[in-house]
Amino acid sequence: MRIVLLGAPGAGKGTIAKLLTDYDGSVQISTGDILRGAVKAGTELGKKAQGYMDRGELVPDSLIMEIMESRLQEPDCKKGFLLDGFPRTIPQADALKKMLQKLNLKLDLVANIEVPKEVILDRLTTRRTCSNANCQEIYNIKSKPPTPDGKCKKCGSPVIQRADETVEAITKRLETYNEKTAPLIDYYRKEGFLKIIASTSSDEVVSGIKKAIKGKSAE
Ligand code: ADP
Repeated sequence: MRIVLLGAPGAGKGTIAKLLTDYDGSVQISTGDILRGAVKAGTELGKKAQGYMDRGELVPDSLIMEIMESRLQEPDCKKGFLLDGFPRTIPQADALKKMLQKLNLKLDLVANIEVPKEVILDRLTTRRTCSNANCQEIYNIKSKPPTPDGKCKKCGSPVIQRADETVEAITKRLETYNEKTAPLIDYYRKEGFLKIIASTSSDEVVSGIKKAIKGKSAE
């Protein structure tokens, strides 16, 4: 299946993508994870992206499209992919459309995950992330804490608060989302791919997406 996950920061896209990859073997592609990996590794891409990310601004479309052009052509995408955090702007969505046409692929579904603003703010300030660029497991100090000494339960690396999870950066990320990314909801509604799923429970969101996919494949 080829799915785009839309939703504000903190809506749970990453968690849901991970649950869905276990279900149908498609690969999760998170531009945020790729960028954080590049920053940590100190690559040219990382150096260009870091300032934008720390301020809670979007990284320029041209850099993102460079990443995605090559990523979508890797062999693990053949079984399907879940795009998490991409596209984030109308130009990115247009570029994705062209790229998929070129690769002769079609999207199956765009799922918009709706979560109330208070929940989002609470989640983002209590969220912690594994610092290992290859793991990036997500924790929450209230609902899913790491080990008592702050280590990742999967890989043992320190679990940290992201640089863009200060109140200022979070506020900026939410503003950026409303201005640049929310218009994609209408964009994909017009394209006929949109499924809205309003829930704060990741299990409920996952079953909603599975149901929508089954409905599509029965068409
Ligand atoms: P969240 O969805 O929680 O905001 P992400 O991990 O998806 O977090 O993204 C973190 C940061 O990486 C964003 O604030 C932005 O700076 C950058 N980023 C990720 N994906 C994109 C994208 N598709 N376009 C532009 N910037 C991006």
